Amino acid sequence: MPRQPTIEWQTNGICNYDCSYCIQSRQYRQGHPSDADLERFLGFFAGLPGVWEIKLSGGEPFAFRGFMERVIPGLAKLPHRVSVLTNFSAPLGVLRRFVDLVGDKLEVVSASLHLEYVELEAFLEKALVFRSWLRPETAFVVNNVLAPGTVADLAAVKARTEAAGLKYFPQVMKTKRGVYAYDATEAALVKALTGERPTAREANVAPSYKGRRCWAGAAYFVVDQFGQAFRCRTAKRYGEGYLGNVLDGSFRLAAGPEACRYDICPCAVPANRGMIEGIQ
Ligand code: SF4
Ligand code: SF4
Repeated sequence: MPRQPTIEWQTNGICNYDCSYCIQSRQYRQGHPSDADLERFLGFFAGLPGVWEIKLSGGEPFAFRGFMERVIPGLAKLPHRVSVLTNFSAPLGVLRRFVDLVGDKLEVVSASLHLEYVELEAFLEKALVFRSWLRPETAFVVNNVLAPGTVADLAAVKARTEAAGLKYFPQVMKTKRGVYAYDATEAALVKALTGERPTAREANVAPSYKGRRCWAGAAYFVVDQFGQAFRCRTAKRYGEGYLGNVLDGSFRLAAGPEACRYDICPCAVPANRGMIEGIQ
């Protein structure tokens, strides 16, 4: 798989939902950068060599006023590709403006289905309107966390989503440092939803790539709302792989790939952007 240089930027902490299964604790689901810091972020992205995919997430990015006022108009002027992970709660009018501003640089829209907050049919109806605005090259994916206690109902959700012509992307529930231990009944249902050995394009089962050469840190990194950059999510979780702060000039990319040291790769983005050598 060709390597697509990618940044995951957690633009803000705030979120307008409070899902019971959220991996981000309430303590960290807060705050956002100042306008001045947003300009510094944009200056940093402008100075990056080449074309990167900048995947925006939060919290909920659209819940932050500065997202549509500064982040998106600013990124729209840069050469980089733009992707977004959203709970899809923003009104269609706002989402239309987002699509218009980003234009043909829009790469992937991941809309997370949170059934604690939305009705499936209303979500799908909105999703179909939204997708009709996208170019065929832009991927639109419906993410669904396989929340414990709800898994028995999700086969019908998957079937209905696919019947509507949308891509359903199941994600196992993660804990701080691993994968949730489903009971035997739900574990079997989870397997039925994800498939026995899914690729990273089919499901996120948070596998381990320990020992494989990974370009995270060199061609991929995560950066939080305070500008702190880390090699990947797991490295950050362990307080490792710090690359510096993009707001104060201390950021440096790693020179090249390193062997992965972790038992979990919780996010499918590095795998799906060609960072991990030797996987499909
Ligand atoms: S929408 Fe996402 S970030 Fe917000 S509470 Fe739910 S899981 Fe957490
Ligand atoms: S394989 Fe995943 S967990 Fe391991 S270094 Fe790469 S991105 Fe991080």
